Order: sequence, then structure tokens, then C-alpha cells
Amino acid sequence: MARIVQKFGGTSVADIDRIRAVADRVKREIDAGNEIAVVVSAMAGATNQLVEWTRQTCTLHDAREYDAVVASGEQVTAGLLALALQDRGINARSWLGWQIPIRTDGIHGKARIRDIPTEELVRRMGEGQVAVVAGFQGLGPDNRITTLGRGGSDTSAVALAAALQADRCDIFTDVDGVYTTDPRIVAKARKLDRITYEEMLELASQGAKVLQTRSVEMAMNHRVRVQVLSSFIDAPGTLVVDEDEIVEQQVVSGIAYSRDEAKVTLLKVADRPGVAAAIFGPLAEHAINVDMIVQNISEDGRFTDLTFTVGKADLARTVKVLEDRRGQLGFAALKPDPNVVKISVIGVGMRSHAGVAQQMFKTLAEKNINIQVISTSEIKVSVLLAEEYTELALRALHTAYGLDAG
Ligand code: ADP
Ligand code: ASP
Ligand code: MG
Repeated sequence: MARIVQKFGGTSVADIDRIRAVADRVKREIDAGNEIAVVVSAMAGATNQLVEWTRQTCTLHDAREYDAVVASGEQVTAGLLALALQDRGINARSWLGWQIPIRTDGIHGKARIRDIPTEELVRRMGEGQVAVVAGFQGLGPDNRITTLGRGGSDTSAVALAAALQADRCDIFTDVDGVYTTDPRIVAKARKLDRITYEEMLELASQGAKVLQTRSVEMAMNHRVRVQVLSSFIDAPGTLVVDEDEIVEQQVVSGIAYSRDEAKVTLLKVADRPGVAAAIFGPLAEHAINVDMIVQNISEDGRFTDLTFTVGKADLARTVKVLEDRRGQLGFAALKPDPNVVKISVIGVGMRSHAGVAQQMFKTLAEKNINIQVISTSEIKVSVLLAEEYTELALRALHTAYGLDAG
């Protein structure tokens, strides 16, 4: 007997027929003698609709009420799946975040899970009851509903698997595993049988939405065995594993892209000590995260240009914060540009192989694509490009690194 947490994403529970199919899949594991806890997302599109309603009601919304609204999608699917399981003669009940409770910090809209008490769940699982847990939601220190950020049901599932010391956490979605890049953009993307925690973490944090970044962080820290697989076809998916479980390591394992960033350029900033602190300090105070940064060499020793990226959602606030301090910062012009894409090539093999960045620059040059900003880390090279080149750049790089399916 194994203890398994199964997570079903939005498309897997998009309508009643699919919820029934999910119930059949859960039943198969139960019939095989396993102990099961299920985590569900809201029906596909439901969360977008809820977010949109809060936005239409009030643009500067109270994050606690936003959470009260957007968490509701998962309540519906948890209840429906419990009903579908009962209909198959299975003892099942739904659990909302506050009922377990899944304790989080108080950062509404992107809360972090702190603790999941499991005594009651384990006792009931021992009696043969299936727990159907609403993903994405928890209970903050103020006893109010919190949500974990978009895509957060992945994190609910991995956290529950860690707390339950489950043998496996299966993430069922609309693709049959983790691919070398988004298979919806690059038709030649190849499914990976295994990927390391580190590479998966980097892929997710650079934009591959197949797993929420925090779920990978949590899996890595608690050594949860995560498998990503399709809820529509019966086939093994991708296992996220330790580096020593990978037999043949590629230099580049995957390519991610993110359209969620925006570029800001400050022209003619004074070139003196303390200027970067004066610019980025107020952004940090406003909880605006800055990702890539480049500063040009000053030609005359007096002025320089500074370019950086922030989340697209933070662009308007960034412009306001900096414009409000224009007198003090003394830049000549501020140019915001939301039409950019960040493309990142990722692989643990980069630690021991040179030339990965050069290959990237050469490939983009051959396609006549201009690189606006570059940043690197131990296992990643990222470039910022004009958004219109997303598909072209992804496909060219995928081929150049030998990742195309045969
Ligand atoms: P769910 O609703 O099941 O959580 P998501 O939409 O959040 O599903 O994640 C699955 C999607 O992630 C896929 O449909 C695919 O388009 C996208 N994706 C992006 N990068 C990758 C990748 N490298 N491998 C697989 N899927 C990816
Ligand atoms: N329903 C939430 C969202 O759409 C959480 C999730 O699906 O993981 O972001
Ligand atoms: Mg998701």
C-alpha cells in the first residue's frame, strides 16, 4: 500500500464529465489498495473570472476580500469531486483550507504555507475516507482566507504530500509531462522522463507554468517525489528527482519564456555613487521586485543609462514611484516597455560546460533578433527580447541546443 496525493488542475476538472473521469481515476488507485488524498483546482477559467470580477468592482481592492472571492472556485470543485466519489460508493469528504487548517502567513494574494496539521486526515484515511482538499487556499494568522498566488494548487498538493509523508505526489494536468519547452509553442518539444529539482525550479521560476515555483521549492526541501502527468491519457509522466538519479545529463535541459516582465529605461542618470540605491530603494519599499539590470558605461563620466525589468503587473506603479522622485533622481527621461519577453536556457550541465551563452547569442544573431538585456546564473542564461520574437527565438534555440524531438 502506498500513500499518494493526487492533484488535478483546472482543465482536468473543467466540467462535470471530467470531474467524473477524475473520480474514476481516484477510484482506480483506491481499488489498488492505496491511501489517497486529492487536491483540486477551480474549473478552468473560473479563477480568471473571479479575478476579473474583483477588478471590475474596485481596482485598488482589499487583498483580504480578493482572497475571499478567488478562493471560492476550489470550494466548488472539492464539493463536486467528493459527490462524484460518493456516487461511486467511495467514502469521501471535501476539506476547505480553513477546516484542516492549512496555516499560512498573512500575505494575502500570495501567502506561503507554514503548517498543515494532519492527525485528523491520517486518522480518517486509516478508516478508508478520501480527503478531497481545496487547493490554492489557506488560513492566515488573522483567521481570514488566504490564497497562494496563481497556480498555487500545485503548492497545496506538494505541501500536503510533505505533511502526510506521502510516497508520491502526482500532478495531473493537460500535458503528459514536463517538456524541453512549452509544447504549445514549440511543436518539436520533447517530453522529459526525469528532470532535477534544481532545473525544474529554474524552469518554473523563469516562466514555465507547468508547476508553480513554490511547489518545486517545497518538493526540493522536503524531498517529495513529484510526478507530472496527463489526466487524459494513461501514460507515465515526468519525475522530478535528485541529480544523481539522472543517467544521461544534457548540457541544456530546457528553455523557458516569460511574458510577465516589462522593461524600464532611465536615460541620462547621474553617474555617481549612491544613484542605484536611490532608484532601487524606493522600488523595494513599494514591494516591487526588480529582475534584470544593466547599466551602460558612462561615456563622459557624468551621465549613464540604466535599464531594468519588473513584473508587468508592477509597471504602472514603478513609473509612478520613479516619476514622483524625478527631481531628486535627476534622470532625463523614463521609457516603459511592456512588449518584451524573457527567454532562459537552463541546465545543470552548464556548470561544467562553456559556450552555452555564446550559442544563444549566435543563434539569435542568425535570426536577426536583437538582445536587449542579458543575465546569467550558474545553471541559466536569460535574454530579454522584443515580445514579437517569442516563437521564432524559442524554436531556433530549441533546435540549436539539439532538443528537437527526433
Ligand atoms: P493546470 O491547470 O493543470 O495547473 P497549467 O496550465 O497551470 O495546468 O500548466 C500546464 C501548462 O503549462 C501546459 O498546458 C503548457 O502549455 C504549459 N507549459 C509551459 N512550459 C511547459 C513545459 N516546459 N512543459 C510542459 N508544459 C509547459
Ligand atoms: N485556481 C488557481 C489559479 O487558477 C490555482 C491553480 O489552478 O493552481 O491560479
Ligand atoms: Mg497550474
